[in-house]
Amino acid sequence: MAGRVTFRRRNPYNTKSNKIKVVKTPGGKLVAHHLKKLTARPKCGDCGSALAGVSTLRPREYAQVSKTHKTVQRAYGGSRCANCTKERVVRAFLIEEQKIVKRVLKEKEEKEKKAAAKKSSK
Ligand SMILES: [Zn+2]
Repeated sequence: MAGRVTFRRRNPYNTKSNKIKVVKTPGGKLVAHHLKKLTARPKCGDCGSALAGVSTLRPREYAQVSKTHKTVQRAYGGSRCANCTKERVVRAFLIEEQKIVKRVLKEKEEKEKKAAAKKSSK
């Protein structure tokens, strides 16, 4: 029969933050090891896939590690995944290009209108 194990800390409740793992010591005694809460990997804000190159830590631990553990050196690094970043960059580029095309077409149209007006007045 499995032996009974008592908590080694003063929190007596079976809560999320009071989980233990029962371990057998070299002397054959059963002892409780208090576990830290499980951590979720940082996710991409757009597609929800886990971010590569960003370490998985508990919230307090993020304050204790350097910035290189929390980000990658790229636009949107540590916030969006590489594919979503690529999509955003391409989309922004295309929108800018479209704006330029619109402006050029408008200028061309105005020039033609002016030329037509001049011809009709003469
Ligand atoms: Zn993504």
